Amino acid sequence: MVSFIGAGPGDPELLTIKGKKIIDSADVIIYAGSLVNPQVLAGAKEGAVIYNSATMHLDEVIDVMKDAESKGLKVARVHTGDPAIYGAHREQMDRLDELGIEYEVIPGVSSFLATAAALKKEYTLPGVSQTVILTRMEGRTPMPPKEKLIDLAQHNATMIIFLSVGMLDEMSAILRQAYRPTTPVAVVYKASWEDQKIVVGDLTNIAERVKAAGIHKTALTVVGDFLGDEYELSKLYDKTFTTEFRKGVTD
Ligand code: SAH
Repeated sequence: MVSFIGAGPGDPELLTIKGKKIIDSADVIIYAGSLVNPQVLAGAKEGAVIYNSATMHLDEVIDVMKDAESKGLKVARVHTGDPAIYGAHREQMDRLDELGIEYEVIPGVSSFLATAAALKKEYTLPGVSQTVILTRMEGRTPMPPKEKLIDLAQHNATMIIFLSVGMLDEMSAILRQAYRPTTPVAVVYKASWEDQKIVVGDLTNIAERVKAAGIHKTALTVVGDFLGDEYELSKLYDKTFTTEFRKGVTD
């Protein structure tokens, strides 16, 4: 059995109980060493064989899983955040299907959620934005033609940009064509880690501030007026509003 596990954003206490139990009892652990906090593996049992997938290609990862399976060993495949977001676990699951190897997926706290927590903000403010776009800049992985940043930006929704903090000059120039140039932006480096850093600004100055802070990778850029202070109060907790669980009162 192979268990794909979302290791969470960094803080080892943000690993799910289920994920931790599997890691702590696994015979073989393959973890994404470039981003997974090694402390997540601190409870691994003695004798567990640990591989860092940063130096392995897909065939090598699958070979380790195949070999372990043939010996009846339990494999924990540990991805950063949640594997469903830029985790590249689909291609591994498809190979396991071909090989007839059983697997399960244990979700994790994605870095975009740890980022909101670090900022103490809500992505979906009434009257501001009710939509969250998770995307990235085009790098070596091309963007599908209908998902260019400039097209996604037209909605002025809350936007969360992964993998791209090294391209902030270009990113903010594109976003300025669709959002107000003074739209607030925050960059969170290593959300939930001990060396977490937060840089705030707007679309005109964020690139230079992030450069000055020496941030080049492992950061998320979040854009939108949800970072500001103007919004409507929610209907959910509006005292005059009747919900399934509560009758509204009149003032
Ligand atoms: N599956 C992961 C994302 C993997 S892609 C998740 O759910 O979070 C790797 C990118 O995620 C990094 O380039 C960075 O943009 C972002 N990232 C991962 N961990 C982060 C963290 N702790 N703080 C800020 N950004 C992070």
